[in-house]
Amino acid sequence: MDTINSYKCPCCGAPLVFLGEELHCDSCDNTFPVETMKEMSEGMAEAGGASKYDWENYEPRSYEDTSDVNLANYSCKACGAEITGDDTLGSTVCPYCGQSTIVKGQFEGTLRPDYIIPFKVDKKAAMAAFEADFKNAPFLPDEFKSKKKIEEMAGVYVPFWMFDCDCDAYVTYNAERVTHWSDSNYNYTKTDHFKLLRAGSVGFANIPVDGSKKADDSYMEAVEPFNYEDAVDFNGAYLSGYLADKYDVSLDESIKRANEIVKNSTIKAFDDTTDNYIAVYPEQSRVSFSNGKVRYSLLPVWMLNIKYLDKMYKFAINGQTGKVVGEYPVDEGKKKKYFWKIAGIAYLVAAVVAYFMLF
Ligand SMILES: [Zn+2]
Ligand SMILES: [Zn+2]
Repeated sequence: MDTINSYKCPCCGAPLVFLGEELHCDSCDNTFPVETMKEMSEGMAEAGGASKYDWENYEPRSYEDTSDVNLANYSCKACGAEITGDDTLGSTVCPYCGQSTIVKGQFEGTLRPDYIIPFKVDKKAAMAAFEADFKNAPFLPDEFKSKKKIEEMAGVYVPFWMFDCDCDAYVTYNAERVTHWSDSNYNYTKTDHFKLLRAGSVGFANIPVDGSKKADDSYMEAVEPFNYEDAVDFNGAYLSGYLADKYDVSLDESIKRANEIVKNSTIKAFDDTTDNYIAVYPEQSRVSFSNGKVRYSLLPVWMLNIKYLDKMYKFAINGQTGKVVGEYPVDEGKKKKYFWKIAGIAYLVAAVVAYFMLF
């Protein structure tokens, strides 16, 4: 009998020995097929390795081609936003803070995006989408219904980093399956223990990571999804009539976020294949990316800020789908009036009932 040092018993960790065609554990008396142990040992070695994230080297390109549309740089005195835009834009309220009008300055160059999803919802349609949305808001202050105010919304191309990659992953799990049965004397419970190995590839396309610190992440995530099939090669002409923000979240920071998204989504996809087991405990996982592509993209968002009782309420409208995101305040005065009115009617009804009871 030879001891195979490299194969340890998956149940108790004791060295396994050859016994006939199989490997046997003298310590816990379990037997394993040689082929299974070989596969498992290879899989465990893969799953135990370090994850590799291989993204292409991205060189930011400066925007030189301004022939198609004349650009200007705009800045906001109140919040410090620096935005590029069509230089024919009239006075525009800062889309990020809504506090002051952005001031036009010299075009100073910016980074050239790779892709852009052009605005599909124009200002008129965006205003209509907002008006349809606030119809559901109870006791809405009148400020939010002012056409003049709503018209202040600005179309902004918001920077996003987009990631594509193929992901290979190995994940191992410890799992259990429990069976119960009984005879006339006893109840039996049998627990089978499994070592699961999952290996496979998952392809990802267009994972978006917000490239702007000024644009609130929760808003940007809420305003998704965008239909990335409409993304086209960037051309300055699309900026005509709109503002375009420059990314201020570095590629390195965004890559960290993209790595997390890819890793978590891959492991989630693998977890979904373990439903046949009662208890599943992930043990080791390794993911490696290949063909990682990075693109700098602009996505269309209408932004509107409305001030009410010293607080700024921010709204974002998806410039492709018209989806409205934002919270409406309640006008306490209107609410009170409404309840007084209801209370008044109730009082009147009670009075009428009392009247009929008296006579
Ligand atoms: Zn054993
Ligand atoms: Zn501002």
